[in-house]
Amino acid sequence: MMYKIKYLIFLMILFSCSSEPKSGWDKYLFSDDIISAEEFIDQDLLSTHITTLSSDDFQGRKPATLGGKKTVKYLIDSFQEIGLEPGNPNGSWTQDVKMLGVKSNLRSQFITDDERWVLRTGDDIIGNSYIKKQNVNLERVGVIFCGYGVTAPEYKWDDYKGVDVKGKVVIILVNDPPIMIDDEYDNDMFKGKAMTYYGRWSYKYEEALRRGAAGAIVIHESGPAGYPFSVLQAGHDSESLTIEASKSLKFQGWLPLSSAQKLFSMSGLDFSSMKKEALSPDFQPKNMDIKFTSRIANTYRYVNSKNVIAKYEGVDSLLKDEYIIYTAHWDHLGMDKKLKDDKVYNGANDNALGTAMVLAAAKSFSQLKTGTKRSILFLAVTAEEDGLLGAKYYSMNPLYPLEKTLAVINIDAMGNTFGKTKDLIIIGKGNSNLDNIVESAAKQDKKYVIPDAEPEKGFYYRSDHFAFAKMGVPSLYVDGGFDVRGKGKDFGRSMKDIYTKNHYHSLSDEVHSDWVYDGIIEDNGILLRVGYAIAQHNEWPSWNENTEFKSLRDAMLRN
Ligand SMILES: [Zn+2]
Repeated sequence: MMYKIKYLIFLMILFSCSSEPKSGWDKYLFSDDIISAEEFIDQDLLSTHITTLSSDDFQGRKPATLGGKKTVKYLIDSFQEIGLEPGNPNGSWTQDVKMLGVKSNLRSQFITDDERWVLRTGDDIIGNSYIKKQNVNLERVGVIFCGYGVTAPEYKWDDYKGVDVKGKVVIILVNDPPIMIDDEYDNDMFKGKAMTYYGRWSYKYEEALRRGAAGAIVIHESGPAGYPFSVLQAGHDSESLTIEASKSLKFQGWLPLSSAQKLFSMSGLDFSSMKKEALSPDFQPKNMDIKFTSRIANTYRYVNSKNVIAKYEGVDSLLKDEYIIYTAHWDHLGMDKKLKDDKVYNGANDNALGTAMVLAAAKSFSQLKTGTKRSILFLAVTAEEDGLLGAKYYSMNPLYPLEKTLAVINIDAMGNTFGKTKDLIIIGKGNSNLDNIVESAAKQDKKYVIPDAEPEKGFYYRSDHFAFAKMGVPSLYVDGGFDVRGKGKDFGRSMKDIYTKNHYHSLSDEVHSDWVYDGIIEDNGILLRVGYAIAQHNEWPSWNENTEFKSLRDAMLRN
């Protein structure tokens, strides 16, 4: 009996050891070559890059400053030292990013036959014009309420219904249409409680522009916006940067709720009942019995900065013309010279850390013995803090075709500086099958994958990968977990809260003496293996059905 049991145990051990050959993504995630190359990601390497980039010497890495230039040079030197090739096909390490800086001064009115309302800029309305002219005027243009301003074929939803809004100003509600069934979000519509891109103000302006509107004004409400109007008021009159487009709205702006209510009542409508109507798929845009005038005085200038790009060329003669991009923004907020003591926004976590992780991945790839089939691009982008502008510029002026770009892996402020975790967060989980690759790679480190806790805040739309997603390229954005090994979730959560409250976009986002690197190293390894697997596997990552980006990718690949 005893003997039999021992024999059985022996058989069981034998069975579990004789690992079956891996298949699918696992075949590459478990490749000996990438696993040995991963050893090059270590604390020394990461902390050297993070400490240097976030030192006062780099002045907070603001684009178009001395600190910005220093950063670009440091990145070029680092990629060169690793032994990569210049990533720009013209032989250089950089892509010039030309941004337009505009400061708009508005004088706006709503006018009916018997009333004229002169709006106080900053309180009653805020807005600007990205038209590169000193004077942009909208004179008594028509105003039309277009519900949520959404055209989403995958939800059979169209707020415009083919109504001509050319030359008019469209008034739009904030966020996704909140479709409810029995007081619960309908998960089949606009991803339920989570925000889709249709809910973002930038989408609403873009759709209005596509429709030929002269202007678009979003109605701010604190609940669905997720932040108070004061956030928009802060700095509304300072210069804002953009990537110059061939076409822009003459006016894009916001109305606080109080102004919206006044606007609707001046034009003989009730705001709350119109809002209710906008929840129906049968909603019809409503011409409002009112005109809008705004005289906008613009001052503008060009601001130049650079994306840094390095290339690790694939070895397969056909597949080397296909690409995987690792990206991280190198820029941060710069300095505030008015301050007395500490003047520098060091941006250690946001995003010296992510930049260091991309450099570490580059280093590891360079150590592969048999290379990768496809090519890997390492793209450190500028001006994320100004609205993803470096990434946006690249996506509008790609150095390699986007239809040959399989995936983008973005690293931004992962913040896992308090130890190894059992979990890893995928922001925008459910968007693409990149999730499955991450999940398998995480499993290798005995980690589980979770979605972000607040999908209604739309974090997926707030960092550089999104500039690529918006063009249709499957894009991944992960965040460090909080289920810290040996310390638990509460500890990790409190560490994250401390960062958000005390350090995020503050002078104190610095390398702290209590930082622990093994969590970053582990997560860096996961992202490394994910990129490697995509570079090797014959299957391309793809968007899931019902994501707002799938039709773009399908169209791109058809052509
Ligand atoms: Zn930031």
